[in-house]
Amino acid sequence: KFIAFEGGEGAGKSTQARLLADALNARGISVDCTREPGGTPGAEAIRDLLLQPPGEGWGAEAEALLFAAARADHVARRIEPALAEGKWVISDRFVDSSRAYQGGAGSLGDEAIVELHKIGSGGMRPDLTILIEVGEDAVAQRLSARDGNNTDAIGGRDLEYHRAVWTAFRKFADDDRDGFVIIDGNGTPEEVHQRVLDAVEARLGL
Ligand code: C5P
Repeated sequence: KFIAFEGGEGAGKSTQARLLADALNARGISVDCTREPGGTPGAEAIRDLLLQPPGEGWGAEAEALLFAAARADHVARRIEPALAEGKWVISDRFVDSSRAYQGGAGSLGDEAIVELHKIGSGGMRPDLTILIEVGEDAVAQRLSARDGNNTDAIGGRDLEYHRAVWTAFRKFADDDRDGFVIIDGNGTPEEVHQRVLDAVEARLGL
């Protein structure tokens, strides 16, 4: 099975991906826990390029192509081989991050991102996408605790951009009830983890 975690910065995706992997391992399930952008040497190199842009930053098209290229490598060289070995794969972000950031909040729109994903990765979808939602205030608190960041500009982008990201994620989940579960990300990591585990049990069986 292939599970993706999605949500904005500060939602707790990475923590929850790790906690879910540990819980599945404890049940004897072999898990490959990975992330995007990244997950293979090539895709991690692209991640470095994306997170440390050249002087003027990337243009929208170049940025979307780099994300798609990283994902193509990740799918072909890591996700598909792990699934073929019978492992479960958990990815911290997948294509819906591109749809929400570059497509929804950015200028490219959903169709172009979906098309790039078809070309790059055969349109692969997770068996289940776990969307973690937290309130704006909680995100602000977590991010300022993390690195003194100010949510007026998360990762150099303004709050409007991030609101558009959250709205896009919510729309994807509403449009695909079978493919998504929305998890309340407020509370302690353990509380959120229990919600995640219950959802995975109900949706995928354990
Ligand atoms: O998930 P993580 O916080 O490691 O993501 C790294 C950065 O890449 C974040 O600032 C996120 O906003 C950005 N990102 C993006 N478009 C994506 C995926 C991530 O802008 N498709």
